[in-house]
Amino acid sequence: MRNARLWAGLLGIEHSCIERIEYDEDEQLLVAHVRPSRTRRGRCGRCDRRCRGYDQGEGRRRWRALDLGVVAAVLEAEAPRVSCPEHGVVVAAVPWARHATGHTRAFDDQVAWLAVQCSKTAVTELMRIAWRTVGAIITRVSADIDAKVDRLAGLRRIGIDEISYKRGHRYLTVLVDHDARRLVWAAPGRDKATLASFFDQLGEHRCAQITHVTADAADWIATVVKERCPQAVRCADAFHVVAWATDALDQVRRQAWNDARKLARTEPKRAVGRPAADAPARPGHERAKALKGARYALWKNPETLTLNQSEMLAWIAKTDPRLHRAYLLKEGLRHVFAVKGVEGKDALDRWLS
Ligand SMILES: [Zn+2]
Repeated sequence: MRNARLWAGLLGIEHSCIERIEYDEDEQLLVAHVRPSRTRRGRCGRCDRRCRGYDQGEGRRRWRALDLGVVAAVLEAEAPRVSCPEHGVVVAAVPWARHATGHTRAFDDQVAWLAVQCSKTAVTELMRIAWRTVGAIITRVSADIDAKVDRLAGLRRIGIDEISYKRGHRYLTVLVDHDARRLVWAAPGRDKATLASFFDQLGEHRCAQITHVTADAADWIATVVKERCPQAVRCADAFHVVAWATDALDQVRRQAWNDARKLARTEPKRAVGRPAADAPARPGHERAKALKGARYALWKNPETLTLNQSEMLAWIAKTDPRLHRAYLLKEGLRHVFAVKGVEGKDALDRWLS
């Protein structure tokens, strides 16, 4: 066929012959009729071994390919069956798609890439496939990658944490490689057994090569890490350290709020109908109300404060030195991790002093 190489390039297929291209007016589809090249014919769909032919299977079938511009495209080919000594009678392998799937490899790969980059709903709409198909594609693409790439190779500095799903009812233990800045492992559960299964998979030799482990203060993590990687330096991760400081700050704020409420109880109640001008002063009430709303102003990073929140902080600085000092300590600790390195170490020394 003329322009066969151009078509093969456009459709993203290799080791195949393009017989002809047609446009299906009824279905508004570009249909590329293809067949595997001679060396790729008659192979088992599961092990790719050359096998004896068995029969013609169920005739011609189609594989969804990536759209060509605004036109949807499919590949169409015979799908004969072969007889594999190991796998029995199976549909023969085709070079353009994974075994027993209805999409080309290029299509699968694009869906898997998109699933990492955007929401699943966006993927289903953009690629015009069902929600479940996205899941099936991710499963087969990641199985392919797992067969080729060892994600756990060369791990030195790792981070261990948990994330919740189903509104906090279920948990995953997740592991990141700090050097590659990548998620390398995840499994349902958050307990010693789950984490131990990771180290089992990693193996003794590679456990010995781990130099640093970051985590929150959870006992189940600390215990397992100490047992499996005794040589590794255990570090509190910056996110949790700042979170602890924020919690401590909130305790101080609540204390200040309670003090203000105690004071408010001794103040006269607001009389109904009396003009506001000669109402008695009630500083405790005002203070308690303001402190209740101060939570976000104290929590947020200073660079993202709204005008109101900045004013709130200025008011706290003027009227409650203790709470303001707690706020500065939280910000000081955050600064330690923001500047990092030698400067960060100096900042931490100053903070501790
Ligand atoms: Zn086979």
